[in-house]
Amino acid sequence: MYIKIGEKNVSLDEIIEKLEIFEHGKAEVITPEILRDLSKYKYPYSISIYLDLSPQMRIKGGWKIVLKDEFKKLEGEVESETLRKVNLLDTLKRVERTIELSLPKLGRGVAYFIGEEERFFSLPLEVPNRVVLKGSFFIRPLVRLFDEYERILVLLLGKEHARFIISEQGILREIVSFISEDYVLRKDFGVKVVRIPGLEEAKVIWHVKAVTKVIDILLNMLGVNGFVLSTSTPEVKSELLERLSKKASESYKGDFSVSVTAPLTEVKEKITPLLALIERDSEIKVIDEFINSVPEKESSRGLESTLESLYFKKVYRFITRDPLYVEGYECGECGYLSTVTLKCPMCGVEMQEIHDIVEAALEQAILQNSLVELVRSKDAKEKLEKEGIKVGAILRF
Ligand SMILES: [Zn+2]
Repeated sequence: MYIKIGEKNVSLDEIIEKLEIFEHGKAEVITPEILRDLSKYKYPYSISIYLDLSPQMRIKGGWKIVLKDEFKKLEGEVESETLRKVNLLDTLKRVERTIELSLPKLGRGVAYFIGEEERFFSLPLEVPNRVVLKGSFFIRPLVRLFDEYERILVLLLGKEHARFIISEQGILREIVSFISEDYVLRKDFGVKVVRIPGLEEAKVIWHVKAVTKVIDILLNMLGVNGFVLSTSTPEVKSELLERLSKKASESYKGDFSVSVTAPLTEVKEKITPLLALIERDSEIKVIDEFINSVPEKESSRGLESTLESLYFKKVYRFITRDPLYVEGYECGECGYLSTVTLKCPMCGVEMQEIHDIVEAALEQAILQNSLVELVRSKDAKEKLEKEGIKVGAILRF
């Protein structure tokens, strides 16, 4: 089967190839896997840079001034021998140039990591400006980016058009789009436009069948949590829903409405309410399970007991209302977190005061491969509140 992309006819194999390039190309969106990967690197001098790139910071290159100031602060903090080795001025120039070149593609913030190689990521949220120089990458400011319903496949479907988009952490990327063309029909009739009864419908069905195949490929390859749909007519929608595979039917999360040729900014605007609903339903499902179905010994309720479960790597799913900031203490030796103890009960050293213990706990959860549920919807928050819980966990067993 061939599908027309632009002026070129491509096969399903070529679409798969395109997807592989999409998946393994330069990462634009940070994932828990990348975070775990970044946490493993230990260089003598690693620089982690966080920059707020919201619109007001972009006016007259405001972010550049901030970047320079942050690097200046660094000079005051580290020893001169370290400074000579990393050559801060060169680094600053290089980072500034790289960010400047990528600026149109970057979201409301950027995270930039410099070790033996450099990697940077577009962030959907503003982050406090910060430059940190130490032996490993400072990834903690990124932990609130993750939630389970982070990756959704968006399909815009017309009678001939189909566009496949990935929505992830507020960033939309178009993966593949095509216009179906029925070659058999064309060859048989020898002309481009043929008006015979039933032909238009036959073409639509052919197109929809091609689309279902691409949906299956994408669901298998991209590890998305579900897909949503906008169709040009109700007929196209019912044709598609009838023909979905079992897996695709189970992944279908609902529809919205936008023109099949709409720019991504408009798609993002139109899809946002639907994504919020999906997120709310998923949160409610998790919270209901946590409150009603998980036995007491397989869960922890409350911050202090959850911190202890984290320390012993027992957390299967970490649950916290969001945003939630709690001051507390962290052991620099073993990572023990507590809201009360000054001295680490595990290794006896003095603990350091930190202003956000939830963030530290989220980091531990992600690095331990726990699932993370940031409860943001009003309904799900109320359910937690009724139980008197702000932070909790479902434990591994
Ligand atoms: Zn300790």
